[in-house]
Amino acid sequence: MRKSRVLWQFILFLLTLGVSVGSLSAQQSGDKADLDYQVAAVLYMQKAAEYRALSYQAYNLARMRLDADLDKKSVKKLPKDQRKLPRSIVVDIDETVLDNSPAQAYGIKNGQPFNLQAWYAWGEMRKAKALPGAVEFLNYAVSKGVKVFYISNRDEVQKAATIDNLKSVGFADVSAENVLLRTSESSKDARRAIAGGKHRIVMLLGDNLDDFTSAFERKSVADRFAETDKARLEFGNRFIVLPNAMYGTWENAIYEYGRLTEAQKAEKRAAALELP
Ligand SMILES: [Mg+2]
Repeated sequence: MRKSRVLWQFILFLLTLGVSVGSLSAQQSGDKADLDYQVAAVLYMQKAAEYRALSYQAYNLARMRLDADLDKKSVKKLPKDQRKLPRSIVVDIDETVLDNSPAQAYGIKNGQPFNLQAWYAWGEMRKAKALPGAVEFLNYAVSKGVKVFYISNRDEVQKAATIDNLKSVGFADVSAENVLLRTSESSKDARRAIAGGKHRIVMLLGDNLDDFTSAFERKSVADRFAETDKARLEFGNRFIVLPNAMYGTWENAIYEYGRLTEAQKAEKRAAALELP
């Protein structure tokens, strides 16, 4: 506990020294980044009833899949060695069960692209709201004896605040043991293996394809499409996807995973548009 606090303070210290190059260069020049291209995505999450409906749709579908899995007839169809295993569900956190759109909106208003200092500060506030349908579904799963694993690429130093936030919006059974944050690698494979170690993973929920399997990791836009087509039968079955137009690997793929300036990113986005 004390160790993580010291680490967190050290990271904040490094950040204030200006390790976060992007925001530093913006500060030095006094410029604010133009993040207007993100406005529609944030408004869609905050103001479109259609977004709300999509979130309910995802969690209603999850409930149907879980109920089908809980049916004794479907248990009989499983390979013998899996029939007695307790169930687990894997969920991502950000933009899957918690809504961070206020942090994104703050960045737009203040011309600050994503930076760890602001991200940690938002996390420490513990103010993220739950996505529509998420608490009801996951608490239903817990009531049926399903173990929920929260697998997120938030940093380990954010763990206490993350657990507090999840608990405060009403998620049951949230603890240091089932909230698995990023320690070294961003790939979630090793943590999914923990969730599947003593359990049978019934389904995974996420807003990023990397939340489901490593097959999508670091792939180009075209290859992400190809992998999605290959996995088409999983969507709505074992993989339940939440929409997130604000950010994600989909955007990094457009930038070819490069560390680009805001101007270079704008160029890549414009070049990626498909015209008539
Ligand atoms: Mg996410």
